[in-house]
Parts: sequence; structure tokens; C-alpha cells
Amino acid sequence: MAPTYGPVHAIVESVEDLSPNFRRIVFSGPDLNHLATEGPFYDQRIKLIFPAGDGRLPDLGDDPEWYQTWLALPDDERGLMRTYSIRELTRENDVTRLSVDFVLHLSPGGSGPAAEWAAGAEEGAELLIIAPRRGAESGGIEFNPGQAAEIVLLGDETAAPAIARILEDLREQDNPVRGTAYLEVPTTADRLDIAGPDTMAVRWLPREGADHGEELAAALGWHCTEEAPADDADAEDLVWETPAYSATGEEIGPAAPVTGTYYWIAGESGVVKRLRRFLVREVGVDRNQVAFMGYWRQGVAMRG
Ligand SMILES: Cc1cc2nc3c(=O)[nH]c(=O)nc-3n(C[C@H](O)[C@H](O)[C@H](O)COP(=O)(O)OP(=O)(O)OC[C@H]3O[C@@H](n4cnc5c(N)ncnc54)[C@H](O)[C@@H]3O)c2cc1C
Repeated sequence: MAPTYGPVHAIVESVEDLSPNFRRIVFSGPDLNHLATEGPFYDQRIKLIFPAGDGRLPDLGDDPEWYQTWLALPDDERGLMRTYSIRELTRENDVTRLSVDFVLHLSPGGSGPAAEWAAGAEEGAELLIIAPRRGAESGGIEFNPGQAAEIVLLGDETAAPAIARILEDLREQDNPVRGTAYLEVPTTADRLDIAGPDTMAVRWLPREGADHGEELAAALGWHCTEEAPADDADAEDLVWETPAYSATGEEIGPAAPVTGTYYWIAGESGVVKRLRRFLVREVGVDRNQVAFMGYWRQGVAMRG
């Protein structure tokens, strides 16, 4: 198969409503055989390009400059790009299937083209996918617990597919690490099946009308109070350093390998910022023990 650099054409093979707010769409089609299907994928991000208003997908060719070509297209031909996670990616008998779990956020004023496309998607619908390719170097995985003795994953519904993938990939490992995954979802009915390792507890936190992020903040507070060593509980005076920044202006060396607890936090950007403040100011965790990721932003349309 010839190498490909650009997005691959994906065809909807099946659509399944997993719960009131999650819809799983399985993509296949010959082009998907260009994708690398060896895991672990963890929180590997992918880009989806949705059709323009007239329903057509942009023609981007197949070269390393496809992104510039895409940006240069007129608005009404470009379509829209959004970021999603790999829920499943398999190749069997030369058929590659990629599953994406879409959150159906469809409330008036709180919806967007990607959610609407997913809500209306039927077998045979097409879009473009940018994902790691066979035989090519690629980035896009943030999950990196190093030698951590414990993992804490916290996320809202947009992070649930990535958390599910992380847990299922951890299960494949010898001696999987212990830890807890906290998943805030809109309703009790949105708790999904995840085949994670026995060493990782999974706690679903249905919002049921509460403010976004309240359940996650409570869970993180509980987790830290219960589990953090006493010294960590009042660490306001600790200097916060990251590999790129020091509040004191001193030189920062390369990040040390992670030991202790590793935190992976993703969801609505404002909520993630709040959780980060708590972890850094109240608990005093080191920058190399955390990954904070805004997956979407209340009131703001993403740009890819
Ligand atoms: C690395 C990464 C991985 C992601 N993985 C997934 C995934 O697997 N599944 C998934 O569903 N999402 C995932 N997301 C989130 C997804 O990209 C955003 O929700 C995106 O905004 C959806 O695009 P849209 O066109 O529907 O809405 P946009 O056009 O971006 O936004 C329109 C409006 O919808 C609101 N909005 C966006 N998302 C939500 C939401 N979830 N709930 C309520 N209101 C919302 C915005 O605030 C805005 O007001 C991921 C994001 C990142 C960065």
C-alpha cells in the first residue's frame, strides 16, 4: 500500500446509541488500512474533518502539505475540523475499523457541527480522519505515567472515551498499576462498559443536573484528602515548577521520571483549570506528575 500523508476517507459502517448522551460510530473503508493499528493508543487524539454545508468533503490530495491546502480552501469548501479520541482501532482480515464515541451535546446554544453530524449520521456517511499512519512517527498521546505507583484519571464525558481506552490498554499490561478513574457524565444512564484491569477502580459521577465539574472537584478533593500523605495536604508554600517555567526564575532541568501518584485530567477547560489550581496550590503536586487538558470550552466553538 502506498504511503499516505493526508487524511483518510472514512465510511460509517455502523451507528450505535450507547446511552442517552453517547453515540458510537464505527468507521471503515479501504483507506483506513493506511492507519497504524498497533496499540497501546491510550489518549491518542485524532482529527475529524466534517463535510462543508453542501455535504461535500474537501479534496486534500495525499501529500505532507495537506494541512496548508486545507487552510487555503474557501470557507464553504473547507468543512470543519474537530478533535476526538480513538475508542477502538482494529485490523482484521485486512479490514480496519475505527470506533469513535461521540458526546451528543445537542442543547440549544450548546451544540456544534460535530455533535450534530454524529446525531444525524447514518451508514454510508463519510468524513476525513487524521490519525497515526502505518510506519510513520506520530505524536498525540499525552498519557505518560512513567514509573508512577498510582494513577488517578479524572474526566468529563468528552474524556470518557480516552479514559476507557487508557483503562483497556492498561489491562493488557503485565502487573498493571493501581489507581482510580473518575468519570463525570450527564446522567446515571451514561455509565458505560469499560473492560479495565482489576487494579483500577472506576467511579462514575452522574451530574444529574449539578454544575459541570462539581462532581469531579469533589472527587479530587476526596481522593487527595483520603490518600495524599499528610505533608502534601498543606503545601501552599511549595514552589511550583514545570519543565518550561519556574515561578522563582531559576533554571529548570529535564523532568524527573514520575513516581508516586500520576494525575491525568481532561474535560471542560474552566473545570480543568480549577482542578489544576487545587492540585497545585492545595496538594502541591509536581508538574511532572500531572497532565491537564482542556478538551472543550463552554460557549466556544473549537477550531480543530
Ligand atoms: C484531545 C481531545 C479528545 C477529545 N475526544 C473526544 C471524544 O472522544 N468524544 C467527544 O465527544 N468529544 C471529544 N473531544 C471534545 C470535542 O472535540 C469537543 O466537544 C468539540 O467542541 C465538539 O465539537 P462541536 O462541533 O460539536 O462543537 P463546537 O463547535 O466546538 O462548539 C459549539 C458549542 O458547543 C459547546 N460544546 C462543545 N462540546 C460540548 C460538550 N461536550 N458538552 C456541552 N457543550 C459542548 C461549546 O461550548 C460551544 O458553545 C475531545 C477533545 C480533545 C481536545
